[in-house]
Amino acid sequence: MEKRIAILGSTGSIGTQALDVVRKYPGVFTIEVLTAQSNYNLLIRQALEFLPNVVVIGNPDYYPFVSEALNSYPIKVFSGEDSISQVVEMDTIDLVLNSLVGYSGLKPTLNAIRAGKDVALANKETLVIAGELVMQEAIQNRVNILPVDSEHSAIFQCLAGERYDSVEKIYLTASGGPFRGKNRSFLESVTRESALNHPNWKMGDKITIDSASLMNKGLEVIEARWLFNLSPQQIDVVIHPQSIIHSVVQFVDGSMKAQMGLPDMRLPVLYALSWPIRIPSELPRLSFANYPQLTFETPDREIFPNLDLAYFALNKGGNLPCILNAANEIAVGAFLNNRIGFLAMSLIIEKCLEIIPFIDYPSYDDYVQTNEITRRHAGEIIGKY
Ligand code: MN
Repeated sequence: MEKRIAILGSTGSIGTQALDVVRKYPGVFTIEVLTAQSNYNLLIRQALEFLPNVVVIGNPDYYPFVSEALNSYPIKVFSGEDSISQVVEMDTIDLVLNSLVGYSGLKPTLNAIRAGKDVALANKETLVIAGELVMQEAIQNRVNILPVDSEHSAIFQCLAGERYDSVEKIYLTASGGPFRGKNRSFLESVTRESALNHPNWKMGDKITIDSASLMNKGLEVIEARWLFNLSPQQIDVVIHPQSIIHSVVQFVDGSMKAQMGLPDMRLPVLYALSWPIRIPSELPRLSFANYPQLTFETPDREIFPNLDLAYFALNKGGNLPCILNAANEIAVGAFLNNRIGFLAMSLIIEKCLEIIPFIDYPSYDDYVQTNEITRRHAGEIIGKY
């Protein structure tokens, strides 16, 4: 019953934590494929430890280093973005963990589904961009999409043994990020470094900025809409600064179920890898003595307009969530490069939602095109700053 796993994005935050989990369960999980975009040194070290059948280095410039370092091992080495999309189709893979960042995750997810692989999905952008298409394909191909995002893992765990039509609504919890309670004049001048300093979670740069701007929660609302087949009105957000309750389901009889635990991504990763069973772990346990108070607040939608932008995109549908995501990726990149300020990110996204042509029922090719046009347009707006 060994589960053979492909990890896309193995050198990133989720990828390295997933390997921490896999390392603890020899004979239960084996690594079949590892892929990385550019961190070839770490990819080589991971390959030497886990001896996968295949590694892929996305950036072809680094191919010679990886190939040379692994040439005396029975490990095939490929390079290029297309190889990352293709490698998920290998017969020997049971489960694909997609921990790529942003739009680049979409094609590999779709290919994995079409090849009949279960997907442990950490790449929420896949569902934000093309959730309807992805879930249709998952149903057609009879594969499971297992959420790795902690909030969605929480909902998924609360729903175990329940009927989906018993759900009245869900609450996604949000820590509020490093700028919770701040006003707009404070946000006007915040630095990249202070935005990267998340109070509870250690994550990659892109998602950490998304958390500070509440865009992460906006993307997660859209992700939840498709994962659990809910209407936008059934999805609510509550600020919970301690990040102990990971999300809540409210049922039609008024009963609520919450899933709790320390904020440690290895737990939702382990659940996605071991599903449908639970396996014992030595991950740190929560002590109630350390958390005498769990508190809840309403998000401030005026100071953090991204949440409403995401609901707007979700309600209108079509290619708007794809526009939202593409504009956000470019805006976050520009903020990380100190090209624009924190508040400019929302303005750029709003402008793109207004200007990029709306498509009611987009095909896959429409998503590809919308993504390209939006990125170009957002780049032009940023050029004027
Ligand atoms: Mn999350």
